[in-house]
Amino acid sequence: MQCPCNPQNLYATCCQPLHLGTHLAHTPLQLMRSRYSAYAMRQIDYLMHTTHASVLKLYPRASVAQWANSTIFYGLTILYAEGTIVEFEAQFSTNNKPTELLHERSVFIQEHGVWYYTKGEHLS
Ligand SMILES: [Zn+2]
Repeated sequence: MQCPCNPQNLYATCCQPLHLGTHLAHTPLQLMRSRYSAYAMRQIDYLMHTTHASVLKLYPRASVAQWANSTIFYGLTILYAEGTIVEFEAQFSTNNKPTELLHERSVFIQEHGVWYYTKGEHLS
């Protein structure tokens, strides 16, 4: 099957090894893509594991799961990726509502060689 983060890639060789824990994300961009795919495939544990502990309380598992489970994801566009920053647009529909566009600038942090999501600023 195609990977949600990029229809030109196979899930098996793109984000699945990260979701399974057999590979770590080498870059914030790779982590961001894998988190998008995790939302799309409702891999809630992966989303929790890749959120930095310092902000985890802002993203309660039940809320993340509820949103992911009621949302269909249509595509990801990377606008910018440099250093610890990834800016992207994601198209999705929640609860069968019209398609929305999320434009976010995400910030990642590396700790002991592992990248984590820390925060996102929503842009319009
Ligand atoms: Zn992917």
